[in-house]
Amino acid sequence: MKNIIDLRSDTVTMPTGKMLESISNAQLGDDVFQEDNTVNELQKKASQMMGMEDALLVPSGTMGNLVSILTHCPRGTEIILGDQSHTFYYEAGGISAFGGIHSRQLKNQRDGTIKLSEIKSSIRIDNVHFPKTSAISLENTHNLCNGYPLTQNYIQDVIDISKENKMKVHIDGARIFNAAISQNIDVSNLIKDADSITFCLSKGLSAPVGSIICGSEKFIYYARRNRKALGGGMRQAGIIASAGIVALENMVNRIKEDHINAQVLAEGLEKIDGITINKNDIKTNIIYFNIDEHRSRSKSLLKQTINKTQYPYEIIMNDVSFLEISPNRFRLVTHCGITKDDLGIVISEIKSMIEH
Ligand SMILES: *Cc1c(COP(=O)(O)O)cnc(C)c1O
Repeated sequence: MKNIIDLRSDTVTMPTGKMLESISNAQLGDDVFQEDNTVNELQKKASQMMGMEDALLVPSGTMGNLVSILTHCPRGTEIILGDQSHTFYYEAGGISAFGGIHSRQLKNQRDGTIKLSEIKSSIRIDNVHFPKTSAISLENTHNLCNGYPLTQNYIQDVIDISKENKMKVHIDGARIFNAAISQNIDVSNLIKDADSITFCLSKGLSAPVGSIICGSEKFIYYARRNRKALGGGMRQAGIIASAGIVALENMVNRIKEDHINAQVLAEGLEKIDGITINKNDIKTNIIYFNIDEHRSRSKSLLKQTINKTQYPYEIIMNDVSFLEISPNRFRLVTHCGITKDDLGIVISEIKSMIEH
């Protein structure tokens, strides 16, 4: 079978040979008893990289955000979220369903930020009518906002406001290494003074499964209990953690290649008549573009579009697949499975998708 150039997401990345090798040699134990040395090693390494006291392995980014927010926010309190945030959009309403946590959705600007003035003015005063504002969650890089990275200055400003108001700051850093590398800043500086972060091993870092939460020792102590309550306490989880260690050791620095490839794609797409994209918006590995509405799309090239009644559609062409996120708006994500040689093919197939 021919290999499709799969730009649907960086989650499609497969474990590297080195990961498979390390999985087969991993030292294992029961991680609910905290006796899996490989998990302990991964957590230690992750917390050091993030400059935080402690860390916890969880099965997914979704659980990482849920566990973190459950740990910060008592039932009936309010968390501030961007209206384009992954936690608001794509996590099945977990914080409300399992935590009884009320979300206050504030408008995300196109660079993934929320205006500081809006954050300030939406923090609740002490009044019997109001839920207490307990936390804010920031997304970095911002998936739905062009993969934009938040800057250290912006994060610091949000932390300052939050501290003044005794609120916690969580960072949904599913792609935090993309954010750090694109700005040439050490990841621990980028997230300095945040109360917690979740990041994914299973996206651009190419590990098969797993995300990490980092925070203070005390925070992780309570997070571990919430993880258990949600069924995320895993036994010989060193199987997963060993690939995560390889991910942190070998896969972080190469992410810059994904950003270069994304730039090349954006430049190629910008030249196609009928496509709207601003290549200056492409800062990391996520590329959104629009096909002008009046352009009909060549149906013959679409081998199939799965899930036809609901976005996102999967666009599967001869050699390339990607997502249509909303009508006429498409997303490509570069990752270690995409090579320089693939880029020309991607551009020419997308060009042929538009009937001229
Ligand atoms: C992918 C993603 C998550 C969730 O990660 P899963 O491992 O897919 O559950 C959370 N936040 C953002 C911004 C993401 O892109």
